Parts: sequence; structure tokens; C-alpha cells
Amino acid sequence: MILPSESAGPGQPRASGGALDLDLIRKYSIPGPRYTSYPPATQFNTEFDVLRLEEAIADDNREGSGPISLYFHLPFCETRCWFCGCNTVITARHEASGEYLVDLEKEIALIAGRLDRNRRVTQVHFGGGTPTFLAPDELRRLGEMIRSGFTLAPDCEYGVEVDPRRLSRDHVKALREIGANRGSLGVQDTNGKVQLAVHRWQPHELNERVVSWLREEGFVSINVDLIYGLPLQTAEGFASTIDDVVALAPDRFSVFSYAHVPWIKPAQKIFDDRGQLPTPEQKLDMFAVAHGKLTAAGYTDIGLDHFARPNDELAIAQRAGTLQRNFQGYSTRADASLYGFGMSSISSTADTYRQNHKTLPAWRDALAKGQLPTERGYRLTDEDKCRRTIIMRLMCDRKLEYANISRLIGRDFASTYGREIASLDDLEADGIVTRSPEKIEVTRIGVPLLRVVAMRFDSTYVAGPRRHAQTV
Ligand code: SF4
Repeated sequence: MILPSESAGPGQPRASGGALDLDLIRKYSIPGPRYTSYPPATQFNTEFDVLRLEEAIADDNREGSGPISLYFHLPFCETRCWFCGCNTVITARHEASGEYLVDLEKEIALIAGRLDRNRRVTQVHFGGGTPTFLAPDELRRLGEMIRSGFTLAPDCEYGVEVDPRRLSRDHVKALREIGANRGSLGVQDTNGKVQLAVHRWQPHELNERVVSWLREEGFVSINVDLIYGLPLQTAEGFASTIDDVVALAPDRFSVFSYAHVPWIKPAQKIFDDRGQLPTPEQKLDMFAVAHGKLTAAGYTDIGLDHFARPNDELAIAQRAGTLQRNFQGYSTRADASLYGFGMSSISSTADTYRQNHKTLPAWRDALAKGQLPTERGYRLTDEDKCRRTIIMRLMCDRKLEYANISRLIGRDFASTYGREIASLDDLEADGIVTRSPEKIEVTRIGVPLLRVVAMRFDSTYVAGPRRHAQTV
């Protein structure tokens, strides 16, 4: 099925103007990485010892005055949403967040003490879990800890993931006081039956109230997260969810495909037992509905699951060729070294990735010993760095101009990666990419399959189930 009804022969683009070719998506959508990093986090290993880690931070610092991005993982949630794929700690014991802050302070001291204070922090992000599990005064304390350890740039992009069910006006005020200026609302679906089926009751009035609070307190950007592929969802019901959230007029949308991985997240097994999950075909229909409605409402398809208003800086950066990709998805500030804090958080510097211990006790134990709480990591080779640049430019620009990419990787792209370029024959024949002597370009109907194109340049990719979620 092609939406809208438009088709062409092999080698010809089959649709334009934001259309989707569901037959092509069916043909090529296979499990693959999301390329928030390259190599993907599945390649991280535990041989990344403390000494080399110290070297990695020292190397990053020696590179001079480059910007810094800070991520804080705040893992607590009062109840579990059964679809959740995040690293969470479910508890009703609110003292847990105060105890967590004590350990976060130790971690901030360990990292801040190793970094040049003159380096500017251009991005801060609170993720979770539920960041507003912390009481307003705990958020204020975290804000002070950050400002006492680091130097924030005046235009710092300061984002917070917000659960409308766990937020008071005082939380919003506290977040604004510490500098937060961007809110990302977890909505997922506004249909009550779906909400009950996933154990997340969230009347839409809560979403409306939180959006107005964020606007009134001066948040400059609002994102809404949705998920398709949840139990009891239908294309018709999801269309109604899209209508509800478009009426909130957010600046951005993230529309994620539900990743069913019960072997990693046992709480998801309940969906298999109840048999309420939509089929892959129904899921594709929902994706088509979301894509059609959001683009019709004037949002630009940034790539993968992100949509933004044309005047949003993500859309502007995409047009200018300066869009970046990092662990939070698409970004305009990913040229910074990323330092993650809290259990399971990921850090990324020019040569290395590292991930903290994924359990609270292991993370806490390392900090009690005065050690960096790293569980695993990866040091990039020169070859990895070239492929990272190629894949990230492809994911952000939807094209690889040979002269530009050769300059960026310091090698002749066409001759070095001739085998990979030749491997695109089938994608070109189906109208997903076009190739010329100067460039490879992903077509409009190829955009939902960006990851599939990127996978052709990934030397670490191993096909097979249970490694990655489906690409669409
Ligand atoms: S509130 Fe968010 S992080 Fe917590 S269980 Fe639900 S989806 Fe997961």
C-alpha cells in the first residue's frame, strides 16, 4: 500500500511530499540499531578498565575548551508502565530520591574535578524514570549541585522529561528557577482503554494543564512523546490521539515504535499473555496515520520518529546541514562531549563511550569507594570514527556528498567505501536512495528506512532476532 495513491517503476521515486510507501517499509524493515551512537551500545564491553577511563576523560579535557553536555538519569517511578523499556526503579518510597542525590553529588564531584571549569555546558537533560519523582526542593538542590560543579552557557538548552501524572505547579516553578527551559511530555496515547491496558492512566486534561503551566512559566520548547504499537491501539484510535496532541501545539513530536522485548523487560510479557498487541500490519497503519496527520498539520519529518515545526531549531538545523545525533535522538548541540550521571547513564567523548552500572546498588557501591561508576564502554578506532561520521551525516542530512564526507573523514570516500556504496543497488532499484558520481541521497519515501541505509555502512551489524528493535 502506498499513501497517498502513487506508484512508479523500479528506479523511480514512487511518492513525494511526505508520502509513505508501506510496501517498501514491509520489505526492508528489519531489526536494526537506532544509531544514537556508532558503534551501537550493544558493542560496548567490560574491558574498559578504570585506568583507560581516566585517560579518556583526561584526553577529552586536553582537547581544550570544547562544549559539554550533561545528562542526569533520575530513575524512580511510582508505578510501572508495562511497555516501559527504560532503566527504572519502581518505588513509592520518596526518601529514595534524597538518598540518590547524595550519591549524584559524589559523582558530580568525581567528574567536575577532572574537567576544565572554563568549558561551557551548552546542554543539560534530566531523563528517567520520572525526574519529577524528586520533590521541588530536591530539584532545586540538584540545580545548585550542577551550577557549583560546572559553568553553564547563558543560552544553555536545559531539558526535562515530564510525566504529567507526577507534576505540580511547584515542580514547574522549581525547574524554571534552576534554568530548565524545555519540557518533553510523556503522553503515549490519549485513549483510556489503551491507558488501562498498559497500566498508565493519564486523562488528557492532565496533559493540557501541564502544557499551559510550562508555557506560563516560560518554557521555550515543548515536545510530546507518543508510542504506537501498544495493546488495543488501532489506526483510528491513534488518529484521535494525534488530533488531541496536535491541539496542544507542541514544537516537536517523538513518535516511537513500541519495542516488544519481553526477554529484556519481563513486565512486557503480560501483553503476550493477553494477546492485545496489534499486528505488524496494524502498527504500520498507525505509523502512516501519525506521519500523514503530523505532516498535514505542518510538522517537518526530521527523520526516524521525530517531527518539528519548520521554525524549530531542529528543522532549521536539518535544512542547514548542521543537525546532530546523540543518545537523546536528534539534537542541534551534539558536538559537545557528553557526560552522563546516575545509574545506567551513557557518556560520549571524541574517542570513547562509557556506560554506568545499570543497577542502583552497583552504581552506589562504586561511588562509595570513590570510583567512577562505569560498567562498560568502548574506545573507537580510527575506522570506527570514519564510519561514525558517515552514519551520523547520513542519519541527519539524508545524503552523503562525496566531496564533503571525504573532507570530514580525511579519506577518499568513494574509493574507501566502494563495497558499501555498491551494496545499495537494491535500495536504489526500489527508489529508497539515488546515486550519482557526486552523492548518495535518500529519497522522501526512503526516509522511514534511513536506518536500513545506514546499516550498509555499519561493519559491526549482526543480523538476527533479539538484538535490536524493528527499524519501523
Ligand atoms: S513513567 Fe516513564 S520511565 Fe516510568 S515506568 Fe512509565 S514509561 Fe517507564
